[in-house]
Amino acid sequence: MPYKVTDSCLKCGYCIKRCPEGAIIADEKEKMDELILQPVHIDVEICTDCGVCVSEEYWCPAQAIVEIQ
Ligand code: SF4
Ligand code: SF4
Repeated sequence: MPYKVTDSCLKCGYCIKRCPEGAIIADEKEKMDELILQPVHIDVEICTDCGVCVSEEYWCPAQAIVEIQ
C-alpha cells in the first residue's frame, strides 16, 4: 500500500533524512512570520512501502504520514 503525507504535517522536515529509501522529498520552503517551514511529499516511485514511517519507530511528531487505503 502506498503512503502519503496528510494535512496534519507540521512541515518540520524531520522525516526527510529518516526514510531509509530517501522517498520523502523536500518541497519548496515556506515562510510564516519568522519561521521557515519545510513541506514534504512522498515520491511513490521511490517508496518501497516498507512501513517504517508508520511503524512503532514512528518518528513523525504529528503522525502525519498515513497508509493510503
Ligand atoms: S516529520 Fe511529520 S510533521 Fe514533520 S515534515 Fe515529516 S510528515 Fe510533516
Ligand atoms: S514507507 Fe518506507 S520507503 Fe516509503 S516513505 Fe515510509 S519510510 Fe520511506
